[in-house]
Amino acid sequence: MKTKLISYSRQIGRPYPWLALLGCVLCVPILPAQPDPNARVLSAHHHHVGIAEAKEDWSETTAMPEGPRLELKFTAAPNTGEVVLGVRQRDVSDAWALRLNGKQIATLKRHRDPKVSYYAVPAGALRDGENTLVIESKTGKDNIVVGPVALHQRPLREVLELSLVTLNVSDARSGRPVPARITITDLQDEPVEIFNAIKNETAVRLGVVYTVGTETWVELPRGEYNVYATRGMEWSRPQVKISARPGAAANVALRIEREVDTRGFIAADTHIHTLTFSGHGDSNLEERMLTLAGEGVELAVATDHNHNTDYAPYQEKMGLTEYFTPVVGNEVTTAVGHINAFPLDAKETPPNHKLNDWVQIVDGIRAKGAKVVILNHPRWPSLPRSPLTQFGLNRASGDFRSEVPFPFDGMELANALTPQPDPLFLFQDWFALLNRGHKVAAVGSSDSHTVGQPVGQGRTYIPSLTDDPAKIDVDNACDRFLRGEASISLGIFADVLVDGRYKMGHTVPVQGDFVKVRLRVAAPSWITPRRALVFLNGRQVAEKPVLAGAPRRPTNVLSDFAIKTPQHDAHLVCVVLGDGASHPSWRTAERFTLAATNPVFLDADGDGQYRSPRETARQLLDRAGGPVDRQWQAVNEADDVIAVQMLSLLRGQGTIPDWETRARELAAKKPLLSDYLAMPLPPIKVTAEQLR
Ligand SMILES: [Zn+2]
Ligand SMILES: [Zn+2]
Repeated sequence: MKTKLISYSRQIGRPYPWLALLGCVLCVPILPAQPDPNARVLSAHHHHVGIAEAKEDWSETTAMPEGPRLELKFTAAPNTGEVVLGVRQRDVSDAWALRLNGKQIATLKRHRDPKVSYYAVPAGALRDGENTLVIESKTGKDNIVVGPVALHQRPLREVLELSLVTLNVSDARSGRPVPARITITDLQDEPVEIFNAIKNETAVRLGVVYTVGTETWVELPRGEYNVYATRGMEWSRPQVKISARPGAAANVALRIEREVDTRGFIAADTHIHTLTFSGHGDSNLEERMLTLAGEGVELAVATDHNHNTDYAPYQEKMGLTEYFTPVVGNEVTTAVGHINAFPLDAKETPPNHKLNDWVQIVDGIRAKGAKVVILNHPRWPSLPRSPLTQFGLNRASGDFRSEVPFPFDGMELANALTPQPDPLFLFQDWFALLNRGHKVAAVGSSDSHTVGQPVGQGRTYIPSLTDDPAKIDVDNACDRFLRGEASISLGIFADVLVDGRYKMGHTVPVQGDFVKVRLRVAAPSWITPRRALVFLNGRQVAEKPVLAGAPRRPTNVLSDFAIKTPQHDAHLVCVVLGDGASHPSWRTAERFTLAATNPVFLDADGDGQYRSPRETARQLLDRAGGPVDRQWQAVNEADDVIAVQMLSLLRGQGTIPDWETRARELAAKKPLLSDYLAMPLPPIKVTAEQLR
């Protein structure tokens, strides 16, 4: 259906005291720093523009939209210098063009709360006589309130009383400048608009300036501000309060300190986008280089959608080669999931993304040289539409209804852009796959598409021979990732040592009644870890509070657990959960932070190797021998995790006619079995014998 365009116009010309009409506007401070008595009101009304009914709290405007666009006609004289349009606007969440006499002069600033945004009108944009101002959606999907609209006959610098603020960030220990994110807010910690930053050496958004640390400057309207420096989750968050006054530059010099010791590991973000090659988001390549350096990402895997992006030339151009090692990758974006691949060759054609078969897709990716293939955000875009649901993952057994192989080396459990409300939800998927015998490593990443969302917010800590971020051996990092030696992080760092010397990815020859687990938990002063959990084969076997440091001190603690030696081989995973972060410098999408280890494999039966619960289940069934009753007896005696695998194996054999009845009987006693039966099950294989 085509929406009928309705336009309307209002002839306005008389001067109006800008101040008077603002009294009606929802008690939000929307004045320029100094009231402008010479501002001309082009419209005094609150116009509802768009295609749908007003939102509940839009009390100032009409229920139905006036039309899909706003058109204001007014008379003026040509402007020889810059003038300014002040537009009160509300709930702008999409792209809206602001056009004057047919020429776009701005895209409306996006903000939810009602306030006035200012737009510079270049010299010569106003005509003698009638002028037309149009505000129009670029997508036709959004609804907004705009107006009053006023014309200020002065340049932006004067209207807002912009004043100069110099910015420096240095490493507290070395005294050297260090790339960082500077967050500028009002005194209520709401991000503010930043003006006239120096292009090429900064990446600027609402309330955010990424810098290389050396002196740069921006302009702020007259007022009081909080200024913070951050550099990802390993660093402190110093703060200073400043007052911006025209004619007196405010000098900000923030000293930032490393608070989380991650020596021996490098911080990898395996999932990063740019507007340049992903086509959405807002970070161009140059800005991405600044954000990577400013967030302390050390191994940066470029993963634009279906594009092999090489950061190296941009990193060099920006003079940022010392801060991270770039890796060419690709988020192979298919109808059956977003599949992350690296390293790739930027000169090669990207892997085929038009296939619908996991194995074919992954084979195609590996044929292009990728060593690591990860299933990204496995529960996106929603639970029912996610690839794991499409293929029918049974979250108790790790079987797929469609019996697809699971050809991935890793799976994202901490994607900062699309976390699950329950922090352990994805872990249950993962544990089921591990129990089923898949070798799949946990991954943390940011999936950042923008400057504002911190790249590296989700990350993976990979052991490294060097701590120099410019000299990371990419092949070695891939190998160690594949060996499961990394831990994942969303604000917290974790590492584990079992029986004094075994690390993530290792197999432990367990001796004695208890397994000694020493978990290290570290976090910066502005993140609070709360609980440490230990899982064996995905079942929680221990929990302890994390004894965090004093308030506003970094956390760096060792937690010791004595875990009862399991009867059979098991994988051991530690998870740390903490409070969500709400500060604008590093805001989490959900109300938690976390860290998790990859598994340490316990060889409990002393045969020198680790067997997954699936293999143990097979072994136990073999031992029970042929008689069906003995096999069911063995299922009954096994622990839940292994019993589920035995049930799945018996079902797969397809030779047991009363499988369903017997399974239901056992499920009454074993909760995991009843979960298993309630979830998608693979088809029963019908044997040739049964067909006869
Ligand atoms: Zn994706
Ligand atoms: Zn992505």
